Amino acid sequence: MKRIAVLGSTGSIGTSCLDVVEAHSDQVSALGMTAHSRWEQLAEQSRQFAPQFVVIADESLRNSIDRSQFQPGTEIDFGPEAVARLAAHPDVDVVVSGIVGAAGLKSSLAALEAGKTVALANKETLVVAGPLVLEAARRNNSQLIPVDSEHSAVFQALQCGKDREVRRVILTASGGPFRTRSAEDLANVTPAMALDHPTWDMGPKITIDSATMMNKALEIIEARWLFDLDADKIDVVVHPQSIVHSMVEFVDGSVMAQLSPPDMRLPIQYALTYPERIDGISPQLDLTTAFNLEFFPPDYDRFPALKLGFEVAQRGGTCGAVLNAANEVAVARFLDGDLTFQEIPQVCREILSAHHFSPTPTLDELTRLDRWAREETKRWKSCSSV
Ligand code: NAD
Ligand code: MG
Repeated sequence: MKRIAVLGSTGSIGTSCLDVVEAHSDQVSALGMTAHSRWEQLAEQSRQFAPQFVVIADESLRNSIDRSQFQPGTEIDFGPEAVARLAAHPDVDVVVSGIVGAAGLKSSLAALEAGKTVALANKETLVVAGPLVLEAARRNNSQLIPVDSEHSAVFQALQCGKDREVRRVILTASGGPFRTRSAEDLANVTPAMALDHPTWDMGPKITIDSATMMNKALEIIEARWLFDLDADKIDVVVHPQSIVHSMVEFVDGSVMAQLSPPDMRLPIQYALTYPERIDGISPQLDLTTAFNLEFFPPDYDRFPALKLGFEVAQRGGTCGAVLNAANEVAVARFLDGDLTFQEIPQVCREILSAHHFSPTPTLDELTRLDRWAREETKRWKSCSSV
């Protein structure tokens, strides 16, 4: 029996993870789960899965929740420190890092420092602090297994060869809802339009990131650290069907791909059972009806965020933390109707260029810069609107 902690259990990744736990309750059990503020949903999950621990990250809810709604016997704790303590709990085997944003870094690191296997959905962990995170994993002999579908695909394809035999990694991108829109049309995109993703059902932040293609930018940086690849060994191809989840090209020209219908329960399950595979609950690829798999080169002019991904992956250092923080605030401002769609990559580029670069930052420096970039992005006004 693998005992897991599901961090962010009320989110899109978290609920998909609990579907996997429910289907394989003879092999996986949820020892703990955490949510930010949706405590009623967390309470319901506690009644279904009877975890030993739940944590509500938002401290301010300490005195306003109704404890009687939780499973009797489940311990309830509050705050980010308690989330990190759960991630490091001696009885936890695998930590599913499904919190959104840089808020997920602390608990991912706590789990790795405690020698846990981390099933990593929170890509921001690597975007913000890639080298420090990998160093923590190495030092504590802990394992980082990707949940992000592209990185899970690469992780699986890499098993077909040796690291030195890899020529390049090709990340697929759905292209989001605005794949075929003109630059002029992109100026009129509303939050509701951007929240409607054609192939994936995900949380709001990553859905907006998919529409700007900042998600792919973050994934380029994630791949750079996770697989220790130079940025020039990473390519992106637009594949609207989201069936080929990514590919690895080896030096002899062979390209290995992983295919499956778009459903996060598959990469989550693989991360939980690796190196074994067990019966899956995701739909099977249906080959009884005709379908097309299309591939297009990305358009860097309409989706400038993508270029930022390659630049940041190449420069490393403090760039990932700054880009991520600027993007988190820019996405929130866009959702509030306070920035246009095209201003998201624009503000990110400006904040990135304005920051004091350091090639080998400490965690404290990254935390300071994260705060600085958030403040700057909150204040930012585009030249056209002042
Ligand atoms: P979501 O918004 O649906 O869920 C986020 C979860 O994190 C919720 O449980 C929420 O309570 C919790 N949370 C939010 N802010 C928090 C904070 N400050 N402290 C503690 N907990 C907090 O997001 P999601 O779509 O499930 O994405 C989660 C992570 O997985 C993101 O990093 C995303 O990029 C990555 N990811 C998601 C998908 C997907 O299909 N949804 C695919 C690949 C990668
Ligand atoms: Mg992905």
